[in-house]
Amino acid sequence: MNSPGHKFSRFATRAIRRYLVGAAQRWVFEPPPQGWIPPRLERTSLYLHVPFCRNCCPYCPYTKIPYHGTLVEPYTRAAMAELGWWANVIGPAEITSVYIGGGTPTLALDSVASVLTRLRERFRLTGDICIETNPSEVDKEVVRQLQNAGVALVSLGVQSFHPDHLARLDRHYTPLTAEQALSLLAESGFASVNADIMFALPGQTEDDVIADLARAAELGANQLTTYPLFTFPYTSVGEYLRLQAVRMPDLRLRRAHYRAISGWCAEHGFERVSVWSFKRGAVPRYSSVTRDGYIGIGPGAGSHLPDGFVLNTFDFESWFETASAGYPTIALRMPFVSEMSGWWWLYWRFYDTRIPLEAIHAALGKDAPKAHLWLRVVEQAGLAIRNGGYLELTESGAFWLHLLQNHFALNYVNTLWTRARKEPWPPAVAI
Ligand code: SF4
Repeated sequence: MNSPGHKFSRFATRAIRRYLVGAAQRWVFEPPPQGWIPPRLERTSLYLHVPFCRNCCPYCPYTKIPYHGTLVEPYTRAAMAELGWWANVIGPAEITSVYIGGGTPTLALDSVASVLTRLRERFRLTGDICIETNPSEVDKEVVRQLQNAGVALVSLGVQSFHPDHLARLDRHYTPLTAEQALSLLAESGFASVNADIMFALPGQTEDDVIADLARAAELGANQLTTYPLFTFPYTSVGEYLRLQAVRMPDLRLRRAHYRAISGWCAEHGFERVSVWSFKRGAVPRYSSVTRDGYIGIGPGAGSHLPDGFVLNTFDFESWFETASAGYPTIALRMPFVSEMSGWWWLYWRFYDTRIPLEAIHAALGKDAPKAHLWLRVVEQAGLAIRNGGYLELTESGAFWLHLLQNHFALNYVNTLWTRARKEPWPPAVAI
């Protein structure tokens, strides 16, 4: 993390963010001031983090703890208390989408159902419910429970159908299990079924990646989300490197695989819907990250509020005790200057790979001319083209954006998450 390349990338991204957002934006997460509460909200989205995993994959950066049945009931109580706290402070807002991630949410579906029931009592739920699943957890009973809870969009973390790659990633299921899980979800009537597929893995060829995509499509996935290892390196890379078989993918390999994936998807009717994802047919898009605002429930969950980001404590015990006692579990907060929200909005439109040009003025106000200037630079560099009222990233634009996101994750999110994982209530963290 202290290589010359990393130092340069840190310097460059800091210079860019200062130029774009301005010097008034402090990039420091601090404990919220005494008595601070979130503003009241008309509408938002909700993220529920279920932290349990049967097998804690060594490369995974997310907040998780080993599953034990006795933890589920206390988790449920704390999550419902936390939901109640948010409802009291932000009011009975409209919830325009729910995303349930983890961890492995399907390990605690009774808990998820209870939280969703409480959510419907305290808020106005108008949007879809999306959930992440794991191949070894999907069976007919799980499908029934998901549908009873009102889940419409599911994502299956397949990663690969190749036994060697699954073994290298320490994923504890066979290709057959992944195939059966995907096929069961696809035939069960969900509005959208996404399959996560990894690329640029050690020893993986382009043919391997394409074979995985083709198999997922054949089994009925209507969305494919593809990503390389370490794209979300929120934890220390040093820890990953203890895994001798796993290395940061080579840039040329990533480029070649990304191009092959884009080409295969275009040929097989999957249109690009984000830097990572391709969707086939008129189904809703499964997405975990592009909401403009959300509140987060669970250990390590973040919230994006109109006036800033906040982050819950990552420590399960601390989260559980604080939430159960009816107190906020927020450990860190970074307030926004007014233009920051607009730039954040633009970042996610880049992630969508389609920027609605007419919306820029409303989103960025006085910074709109600066944004238009940058968009012209992107266009002239051949990274995007105009199409109607949109600026659309080209295949190469999408690839370079994915690299930029990688640096963003390395520079900022890794710093924040590494500290938050070490201390339940960290002091200020500058990113
Ligand atoms: S990759 Fe998924 S199953 Fe593995 S530890 Fe992370 S959240 Fe759990």
